[in-house]
Amino acid sequence: MTRILLLGGTGDALRIARQLGPGHVYSLAGLGKVPDDLSCEVRVGGFGGSAGLARYIEDECIGLVIDATHPYAAQISANAAKASRAARVPCWALRRESWQPQAGDDWRMVGDWAELTGALASFRRPLFTLGREPLAHLDEIPPQQFWTVRCLDAHETHPRARILAMRGPFTLEGERALFSAEAFDVVVSKNSGGSATEAKLDVARERGLPVVMLRRPELPAADREFAHVADLLDALQVSG
Ligand code: NAP
Repeated sequence: MTRILLLGGTGDALRIARQLGPGHVYSLAGLGKVPDDLSCEVRVGGFGGSAGLARYIEDECIGLVIDATHPYAAQISANAAKASRAARVPCWALRRESWQPQAGDDWRMVGDWAELTGALASFRRPLFTLGREPLAHLDEIPPQQFWTVRCLDAHETHPRARILAMRGPFTLEGERALFSAEAFDVVVSKNSGGSATEAKLDVARERGLPVVMLRRPELPAADREFAHVADLLDALQVSG
């Protein structure tokens, strides 16, 4: 049996982990929920950079690394590619396809936080769906703005922001109700791809709202890349 190290932290990774039997390892950074109903081993926490990951691969006799981390988790993907090369084991990656703008979309692409706040300057009620990063900037909210920040983390209340500690998937009906109740005038998003959090883009289009979209980071090439979980699982069965 080829012992697999699956790097996860996403819904797609969890779907793969559910198919792995004992003897394989599912690895999480430790920021979110840790599943307790898997047949495979679950480990939590960083490895100590690419060198630590290479050591782990060797010590644990891992024969295949699968990078199924989030498309914006660029550090662990870089580490996975480098460590696999160093340990001479193949690295496969699940690379979820990006969302593509459709007719009627008004996407404004930005590369970092400074560009992002510049793109928001003329708006009053942004919805942030970027994860926890905006929580570090609550004291910088411009006087004309009220922020809604939706992320996994609970956070103390703030007079100029509403923090929604919520986990997807989000439905079209739910997003319509939220957008209507909160009167957002712009959406801030990563281009995560997949269906779990896509409804906000549909509702932004329906309401004619711009989307400030953070560009995807560069990710390293992997030995095999898959856009869909089913294709990766098929390849695992074929390769035994
Ligand atoms: P990151 O910047 O790429 O990684 C930071 C460090 O966290 C890595 O260097 C590694 O520490 C550790 N790490 C990350 N993923 C790990 C894993 N699966 N197993 C063990 N250690 C891991 O990652 P991030 O953007 O902070 O994301 C952290 C985790 O949340 C990822 O697993 C990702 O899949 C998940 N996630 C991220 C996003 C996002 O938008 N970034 C969204 C949803 C889920 P060492 O260097 O010490 O090994």
